[in-house]
Amino acid sequence: MALNDFRLDGKVALITGGNRGIGLAVAKLFGEAGAKSVLTARRDNPEGEAELKAAGYEFDFVSADARDPETPEKLIAHTIEKYGRIDILVNNAGVAQHGDTPDFTDELYEKIMSTNLTQLFRFCRSAINPMRAQGGGVILNVGSISGVVTNVPQNQVAYNASKAGVHMLTKSLANELAPDNIRVNALAPGYIETDMTAVRETNKEWDSVWRAATPIGRYGLPEEMANCILFLCSPASSYVTGAVLIADGGYTTR
Ligand code: NDP
Repeated sequence: MALNDFRLDGKVALITGGNRGIGLAVAKLFGEAGAKSVLTARRDNPEGEAELKAAGYEFDFVSADARDPETPEKLIAHTIEKYGRIDILVNNAGVAQHGDTPDFTDELYEKIMSTNLTQLFRFCRSAINPMRAQGGGVILNVGSISGVVTNVPQNQVAYNASKAGVHMLTKSLANELAPDNIRVNALAPGYIETDMTAVRETNKEWDSVWRAATPIGRYGLPEEMANCILFLCSPASSYVTGAVLIADGGYTTR
């Protein structure tokens, strides 16, 4: 074992939600670690892409709606066409929605479930045969502490259920795919400074509850999540599969 085990030289990654937040931080770190990446999201982010280009990282951005049932198969095929293989799949795209349950519509529930869980299942499914054919691979699913504990003070039943689903899907797939040399792990972030938690800037009550509930006393940074994801996607974690790595500043210790 050596520090080089944390590198991804020559590896090809597909990163969903790769235009901003945690996904963009992963794209940057994977570039630094030597990987080529296909990044996907609905919208492009010229500023983010310019940064990746300036750093000399090899990547390709494809705009797509992950909820479209055809997107996962198309993007896996695109990745293989573009770079010849797919070594790493990072299922990071997701949406959050707060709301009291009696007022939570079917449309909202469906949006959360299809974005956070159904499309993630489809991406995993589409990656399996190509990874098998090339002798192995790594899948990393972004879950959440919301799949482990109930958040306060906001109600978000659908989001929490979707992320618990991500964790169990991860463990089940890890078990199914271990004989194929495909490792499957999840990251469960706590509160991270991204657009998803932008309400922290306007809702001071929630902001102070979230900080007070976090022993480290601050939000996590996308780069801190990217570090964890790099570990779980690199040969450094070769004996880790079926794990849900909690990175939450201690939130779930209480
Ligand atoms: P952001 O809101 O910054 O990013 C969400 C990403 O998902 C964007 O790239 C967005 O791109 C993409 N996305 C959303 N819907 C779709 C869709 N239908 N099709 C394709 N892409 C989509 O949030 P984060 O970076 O924080 O979130 C990344 C992951 O981390 C999510 O799975 C989230 O649930 C999880 N997480 C975040 C936490 C936090 O505190 N921030 C805590 C725990 C987990 P676009 O909108 O352009 O399509």
